[in-house]
Amino acid sequence: MPSPQAVDEHFMMLAMREAEKARAAGEVPCGCVIVKDNRVIARGWNQVEALKDATAHAEMLALTAAEAAVGDWRLEGCTVYVTKEPCPMCAGAMVHCRPDRVVFGIRDPKGGACGGWIHLLDSNPPLNHKCECVGGVLGDACLEQFQSFFRAARAAAKLRKQQLREQETSKDDTAD
Ligand SMILES: [Zn+2]
Repeated sequence: MPSPQAVDEHFMMLAMREAEKARAAGEVPCGCVIVKDNRVIARGWNQVEALKDATAHAEMLALTAAEAAVGDWRLEGCTVYVTKEPCPMCAGAMVHCRPDRVVFGIRDPKGGACGGWIHLLDSNPPLNHKCECVGGVLGDACLEQFQSFFRAARAAAKLRKQQLREQETSKDDTAD
């Protein structure tokens, strides 16, 4: 039997694979899988740009898919694995869907709603049963995935600016 930590890391790796799909599509790389009885029942990756929908976070899409998979809005017995600490919207959705556990990678002290900025899943009256939150699972790897996306985006923006400047300069040259 693998240790509980090894199990969490295994499923976090699968969530990172979902995040990779987001990155490949030019989206901020956040990915999510939902697990029941050691089986992935739903996946989701950030699709805010593709769907032009600010609510299309990885967790929201995965929660909806998980509800469809179990045929119930109650996600009892489920664990949500997500590469970044859920935001208040996603944590709020989890309050309603009631998964047993939420496991995330990157901690977000600025906007996280699972203990980073606020804690919506801890002793919250609408959540009838306790939802366990575990943060920092493969946190460094998730953070690197996240930061490399923004590094590449900044480099691409810089290159575009440089190309525009070069075009302007060559226009000036031909004008002479
Ligand atoms: Zn969110």
